[in-house]
Amino acid sequence: MSVYWSDVVSRLTPYVPGEQPKIARLIKLNTNENPYGPSPKALAAIAAETGEALKLYPDPNSDLFRQAVARHFGIEARSVFVGNGSDEVLAHAFLGLLRHDKPLLFPDISYSFYPVYCGLYEIDYRTIPLDEQFRIRVDDYLAADAGAIIFPNPNAPTSRLLPLDEIERLVAGKPEIVVVIDEAYIDFGGESAVSLTQRHPNLLVIQTLSKSRSLAGLRAGFAIGHPDLIEALERVKNSFNSYPLDRMTIAGAAAAMDDTEWFDATRQKVMASRERLVARMQSAGFEVLPSAANFIFARHPAREGGQLASALRERGIIVRHFRVPRIDQFLRITIGTDEQCDALLSALEEILG
Ligand SMILES: *Cc1c(COP(=O)(O)O)cnc(C)c1O
Repeated sequence: MSVYWSDVVSRLTPYVPGEQPKIARLIKLNTNENPYGPSPKALAAIAAETGEALKLYPDPNSDLFRQAVARHFGIEARSVFVGNGSDEVLAHAFLGLLRHDKPLLFPDISYSFYPVYCGLYEIDYRTIPLDEQFRIRVDDYLAADAGAIIFPNPNAPTSRLLPLDEIERLVAGKPEIVVVIDEAYIDFGGESAVSLTQRHPNLLVIQTLSKSRSLAGLRAGFAIGHPDLIEALERVKNSFNSYPLDRMTIAGAAAAMDDTEWFDATRQKVMASRERLVARMQSAGFEVLPSAANFIFARHPAREGGQLASALRERGIIVRHFRVPRIDQFLRITIGTDEQCDALLSALEEILG
């Protein structure tokens, strides 16, 4: 606290990201990064930008990247907005599309950045409880008086997927308000709602290159929706930072979107490792929620989540534990390579005795 701070800053409760430890030999299963690394074509495109051209500002509209996203989904580039990680895209959506007189709705257990943006932009919000099996109930949102709605699909940290017809039922049932679907994990087993944006002008879908395209370090994300929604995001962006994506990011992100082969091969590997890990975790006595993401959410009936997380840490493995009501017995575990999953399982066996 300082007398120099503004009132808004004094009141903020900032987001705390998962730890990025400086110790190299840790097995890092805490922030849902992808173990397989970026497309070699993306790396080559990034390297090609690190020269004399850096003296010039990048394209403020990142058209190369926007066009690659449009190509990938078979839509028009004017339906695409890109940003410095999907967190930035989300932030602009909170200010530009989710701030209204009536409250913004999101699940009680969800991405913990959402209440942080509400604090930053002074947005009134209300949380809607997930059901007993940690599922989103669309009827609860349809029945509520809302200014806007946002949730991740699959949800985080629960990993549960809401089927596409349920998303459409929600979007069609609330045509007067914006619905934002945060699809950070959709490529690991779900069907994207991007196709619905063509017939529902109130739907905005946000994705990231951090997870399924293994580019968390590059910082690239995008939104897809009706051009009127995209214009709102552009108005915020152009009132904040004209050049949020640098030259390396624009080139690398575009190349990553185009490299469908690498994308499919690596996400298939992650999904195969997930099925293998889930089966073994269940044999070890864990309850594992059905996952359509590159992480699982699991609890042991007899062991406290925080205790398990510390015991794993002592053995060089870091996972995420949330000291939050309803989920404090759970661990959120990123799907690593099969080798990393095996190391996790042996450590758990040792801990559980
Ligand atoms: C990881 C994640 C993001 C943010 O990803 P960026 O790295 O900022 O693109 C957004 N939403 C959810 C639910 C996430 O888990």
